[in-house]
Amino acid sequence: MPIATINPATGETIKTFEALDSKQLEARLQRAAETFRSYRKTSFADRAAWMVRAAEILETEKNDFARMMTMEMGKPIKGAIGEAEKCAWVCRYYAENAQRHLNDLLVETDATRSYVHFQPLGPVLAVMPWNFPFWQVFRFAAPALMAGNTGLLKHASNVPQCALAIEDIFRRAGFPEGAFQALLINVDAVQRVIEDPRVVAATLTGSEGAGRSVASTAGRQIKKTVLELGGSDPFIVMPSADFRIAAQTAVRSRTINNGQSCIAAKRFIIADEIYDQFEREFVKEMKSLRVGDPLEESTDIGPLATEQILKDIDEQVKTSVAAGAILLTGGNKLDRPGNFYEPTVLANIPKNSPAYRDEVFGPVAMLFRVKNIDEAIAVANDTTFGLGAAAWTNDAGEEARFVEEIEAGCVFINAMVASDPRLPFGGIKNSGFGRELSEFGSREFVNIKMVWVK
Ligand code: NAP
Repeated sequence: MPIATINPATGETIKTFEALDSKQLEARLQRAAETFRSYRKTSFADRAAWMVRAAEILETEKNDFARMMTMEMGKPIKGAIGEAEKCAWVCRYYAENAQRHLNDLLVETDATRSYVHFQPLGPVLAVMPWNFPFWQVFRFAAPALMAGNTGLLKHASNVPQCALAIEDIFRRAGFPEGAFQALLINVDAVQRVIEDPRVVAATLTGSEGAGRSVASTAGRQIKKTVLELGGSDPFIVMPSADFRIAAQTAVRSRTINNGQSCIAAKRFIIADEIYDQFEREFVKEMKSLRVGDPLEESTDIGPLATEQILKDIDEQVKTSVAAGAILLTGGNKLDRPGNFYEPTVLANIPKNSPAYRDEVFGPVAMLFRVKNIDEAIAVANDTTFGLGAAAWTNDAGEEARFVEEIEAGCVFINAMVASDPRLPFGGIKNSGFGRELSEFGSREFVNIKMVWVK
C-alpha cells in the first residue's frame, strides 16, 4: 500500500509520503534506544506534566485534528471531534493514575521485606489501524510513556498525517526528543523493526492476519506482544428488555464510525417473541440514516476508509446472499465518487456464509432469530472472535447467565459496548490477548520485578 492520504469521500490523492529508507529507520531506532536510557529516569511528575500538556493540545486543536482524521479515513466529523476529546481524557487519566498503578506493591512473606517493583521495558513498537487513528495510538502511548517506555508507531498506510500529527503533539507537549516517534514504513519493514534488539516488545491493533504475523515474529524473538484484533460482537435482545431503547441503540452500535469499529455490534440476536417488531424498527432506522459527506455535521455515515474495504464488504454481502441470506435493505455501493456503501441488513444467515463466519467491517448488520436464552448464548459464542458483547434484559437471572457464559473480553448489559480509560479493554479467542486501559494497561509493558530482602 502506498503511504498516502487519499480522501475516501472523493477518491482524490491529497498527499503522498516516501517510506523511511534504512538509514533513516536506523536513526530512529537508535534514538528510541538512547532516549530510553535517560527517559526511564524521569519522574512520574515530569511525565504527568507532559501528558497533561498533550491533553491540552488535543483539546485546543480538536477541530483541526478531527478534520485531518475525517479527510484521511472518512469518519463523520462529530465522531472525529469526540475521538480527539477522548484522547485528551486518556492522557489525563494516565497522568493522574499511572504512578498509583506502578507503585511498589508490598507483600508479606518470610522475607524482612518483599515487594513487587515495576520497571519500564524500553522501546515498544505499536502497529496501529486507521479506524480510530488517534484513539488507538493514545490508548497505547499514554500508559506506555507514563511507565517510562519509549514508543515507536507504525501507523496504517492511509493515515500518515495523523501519525505525524501525534508525534508532533508529544514533542510539543514537552516529551524528550525520541520518546515517541512515528515510523513511516511499509508492512514489509515491520519484521525488521521487531527483530531489532533495541525494540523490546510490540503491540498490534488490527486484523487477525496482521496479528498472527506480528506475534509470530515477536514470538521467535521471545518478545512480549499485546494483540487487539477483530470482533463480531453479539447484541442480544430478550423479551424483558426495554425494547425501544434497545432498537435505537442497536442501529448506533452497528453504524458508529461508518460501521468500522472492532466493538461495533455486528450480530443482532433477537428473541423470537420480539423478533418481527425488532426487524421492522431496525430496518426502518437503518434506511433513515444519512449517508454522505463526512465533513457535514448532519451526516450519520461517511465513506468506507479505502476502495479495497468497499470491494471486500460488497463481496461479503453478495456471497452471503448467494449462499441464502435474505437482504432486507441496502446491499449496494452508492453510485457516486468515493467509497460509499448503503446501510445494509441481512437476515436468515447461513452458517457457511462470510456474514456468519467473518468480521464484516462496514455498515452491515446481521439479524438472528432465537427461541430462548440458551440458543441466544450458543449463537453469540458461535464465532472465533471474543471481543465485546451487549445483552439487553431486565431479568436478573438472564443477566447473570450472560455475564458468566458469553465468551468475550467485556459484557455490557442494557448498553452498547464502549471503551473507558478506567476499565480494561481487550479480547479472548481470536480477538487477541493482553489488555489496554486501566491499571491492566499500565502493567503490560513493564518488568514486574520481584524483590526479596532478608
Ligand atoms: P490491518 O490491515 O490488520 O492493519 C492494521 C495495521 O497492521 C496497519 O498498520 C497495517 O499496515 C499493519 N499490518 C497489516 N498487515 C501486517 C502484517 N502482515 N505485518 C505487520 N503489520 C501489518 O487492519 P485494519 O484494516 O487497519 O483495521 C481493521 C481491523 O482492526 C479490524 O479487524 C478491526 O476489528 C481491528 N481492530 C481491533 C481493535 C481492538 O481493539 N481489538 C480496534 C480497532 C480495530 P498497512 O496499513 O501498511 O497495511
